[in-house]
Amino acid sequence: MAYDLLLKGARVVDPSQDIDGIRDVGIIGGKIAAVKEGVVDAATETIDLSGKILTPGWIDIHAHLYAGSTTWGIRGDTLCLATGVTTIVDAGSAGWANFQGFVDYVIEPARTQVLGYVHISGIGLTYGPVGEMVDLSYADPERTAFAAHHWQRHCAGIKVRQGGFQVGENGVEPLRLGVQAAAWAGMPVMVHIANGVPVDQVLSLLRSGDIVTHCYQGTGDGVVDDSGAVVAEVWAARERGVLFDLGHGGGSFDYGVAISALANGFLADVISTDLHVSSWDSPIESMPETASKLLNLGVSFERVVHQSTTAAAGAIGRADELGTLRVGTVADLAAFEMLQGAFEFADVRGRRERGNRKIEPVLTVREGKVYRPEDLDEELRADRERAQWMKKVTGKDFAGLGWTPGATL
Ligand SMILES: [Zn+2]
Repeated sequence: MAYDLLLKGARVVDPSQDIDGIRDVGIIGGKIAAVKEGVVDAATETIDLSGKILTPGWIDIHAHLYAGSTTWGIRGDTLCLATGVTTIVDAGSAGWANFQGFVDYVIEPARTQVLGYVHISGIGLTYGPVGEMVDLSYADPERTAFAAHHWQRHCAGIKVRQGGFQVGENGVEPLRLGVQAAAWAGMPVMVHIANGVPVDQVLSLLRSGDIVTHCYQGTGDGVVDDSGAVVAEVWAARERGVLFDLGHGGGSFDYGVAISALANGFLADVISTDLHVSSWDSPIESMPETASKLLNLGVSFERVVHQSTTAAAGAIGRADELGTLRVGTVADLAAFEMLQGAFEFADVRGRRERGNRKIEPVLTVREGKVYRPEDLDEELRADRERAQWMKKVTGKDFAGLGWTPGATL
């Protein structure tokens, strides 16, 4: 058999098949054709990955990618291909009224596979400075359900943010409407937790397969109480099949909470970045960077791979096709090097932790095509510059853009 691409000699870690060992991976027509030891067949292109680690392509189930149309959105396609991410899910940047634009302008042109949650707010997360569910008239479960169904090929579920800033006086009513829409569409809800809405009230509405994002946030109303113990309702929710996602972001990965939760034996089901204009450069950077933080808190490498591949695919209802190296599935893969040394990682509060290992992206394969980080620097720089402009204007950091408010422009 002649392969289009042969990846030789890596330590292959595929939790979906319990594979952890030296294997060669052959690819034909953008699909996985072989995962075995000592392949000698011919290949159009062979890449030696000896000393490297090869996994299914990573899946980031929470990011904000509607650049140019929302205050949060970054252009994430190049960043994904530079960091081992082959599928990324936008977490509610678009609602039913602007999801068509998200399909046309973000999903369709991307080399990475992009999916999206439809926000219960009909206009999604267009305008960050105002909480999207302070006014419930923006929420329409019927239109939301119908849109999610209409775009089901691109849609992972319904998104709701349940912090005090987002919902004002409306308590868990936005979530109730979101769960109604999700039930009609036959999809899960992803709910953002934050201070201002009691977490037990949020959890009480969730069903098996629904996802709580920001599970290590430390603003209050989170998964651990003041004494650092994981609250009983969280264990009960997990028991009935509710999933917990990391969702790092600019405000939601708190070392204190993560360390307490891990000490209680509470591990996030899924790792995600919550990349957006205010979180990209600091404190997240990428999926491998986020996974490296957990790795250095004692979570095993096999586990962080599981959290970023197999478990993530399951959370978005795509375990048959994604997050696996099963023969016949799409050839989405990520190669990494495990760097050894002295590294520092930061949480959202500026707390720094040292670690001796860092997961460094080497190459990404998306539908059989190879991308290397070093070839993507220029594209990345342009994407970052755009994100920084939006970050500064959103934060009214006009001085950073050379303007003193009040002066004539
Ligand atoms: Zn988010």
